[in-house]
Amino acid sequence: MDFTFGEEHERVRETVRRFAAAEIAPIAREHDDNETFPREMFRKWGDLGLLGVRYPVEDGGSGMDKISDCIVREELSYVCQSFASTWSAHTHLGIWPIWKAGTPEQKARYLPGAFAGTRVSAFGLSEPGGGSNIRALATRAEKIDGGWRISGAKTYITNSPFADFMLLAARTAPELTPQAISLFIVDLPNPAVAIHTLAKEGIRASETGLIHIDGLELADEALLGGQTGTYPIILDSLSENRVGVAANALGMARAARDAAIAYARDRVVAGKRLGQYQVIAHKIADMDADIEAARWLVYHGAWLVDQDRLTAPMAAKVKLFASEVAVRASEQAIRIHGGAGIMRDFPVGRIHRDSLVYVIGEGTSEVQRNLIARALDL
Ligand SMILES: Cc1cc2nc3c(=O)[nH]c(=O)nc-3n(C[C@H](O)[C@H](O)[C@H](O)COP(=O)(O)OP(=O)(O)OC[C@H]3O[C@@H](n4cnc5c(N)ncnc54)[C@H](O)[C@@H]3O)c2cc1C
Repeated sequence: MDFTFGEEHERVRETVRRFAAAEIAPIAREHDDNETFPREMFRKWGDLGLLGVRYPVEDGGSGMDKISDCIVREELSYVCQSFASTWSAHTHLGIWPIWKAGTPEQKARYLPGAFAGTRVSAFGLSEPGGGSNIRALATRAEKIDGGWRISGAKTYITNSPFADFMLLAARTAPELTPQAISLFIVDLPNPAVAIHTLAKEGIRASETGLIHIDGLELADEALLGGQTGTYPIILDSLSENRVGVAANALGMARAARDAAIAYARDRVVAGKRLGQYQVIAHKIADMDADIEAARWLVYHGAWLVDQDRLTAPMAAKVKLFASEVAVRASEQAIRIHGGAGIMRDFPVGRIHRDSLVYVIGEGTSEVQRNLIARALDL
């Protein structure tokens, strides 16, 4: 067993840390207030090679590994989750299925721009009728001569308001079976796809869309991998991304803990620094222990991805634990701050709002528990 990060991993961490402090921290508050994302950030990420971290060089990626991908997520999330979630929806949800299952033509058409940051992607799976029950999705793709006609609706789709292309999940047969669900690649904007930006309480600088699709006609070449029944690709993609977003949660939990420590060292109440009150010190000690456990769970999950050994129940455990740690840590950080915790001049309120996104997105905590319990054959 070896629990140390390699030199390359430390270099990635240092690069992202410096970048996020210089380029994201100064604008995070403004974008959270305005609920806008600065699209030019993608070019900067692309120039640094941060959009292809997890993908091999031969496919146009940066040739690192899932551990590096999680390091990038952790450090971006430490500074601002909106930016990290935007990065995540693009680099994983929008790219991974094309990389994994796309035809050579689809890879050649979409991956270079996606890695360079000149084309931004989104992933449209969740629907207004329900996000947890993917198998029941109602967006329908009907075969027509030379292609497909698609109608339906998607909601809460990250990056969709400014995306250049979107992976769209649709039912290619009426039955409620996995074989009936397929992915399509849709170039945006498209007159048959109406996208309305949603106002949010968490990750406010990440742009999220409600989408109506009305008679969208796509050529056969838009069907991912040229084949129907790509539901297993969706499931594999979600499993890997559960480890990924757990790293996002880890970054938020660390940021909340560090803010709490800074405040506990600084704030004097009745002649004593907050940290000298045992009740406060214990809260921070619990956060610290939680974070340590989440850290090793996240990087064990990443290591399993790199070994091609990640299972769905394991991914669910990693995601469940780390996302709940971020919620707990940020709530405690607010309490430790007292009234200041509710003020926007302090980061802990934003971190808590943002942390709630990941006990919902990528499958709620209840869905993760269902996945874990199913494997226990109760
Ligand atoms: C900010 C944000 C960004 C997102 N980005 C994307 C994106 O880019 N692409 C995308 O496709 N989706 C995205 N989502 C959607 C997200 O994946 C869904 O919100 C999530 O899967 C939950 O679905 P739902 O909101 O429909 O809740 P529901 O499925 O309606 O769940 C409501 C409640 O019921 C519980 N519940 C549901 N089913 C069960 C069950 N079987 N057992 C026990 N409890 C259950 C849930 O845990 C939850 O508490 C995003 C969501 C958010 C909030």
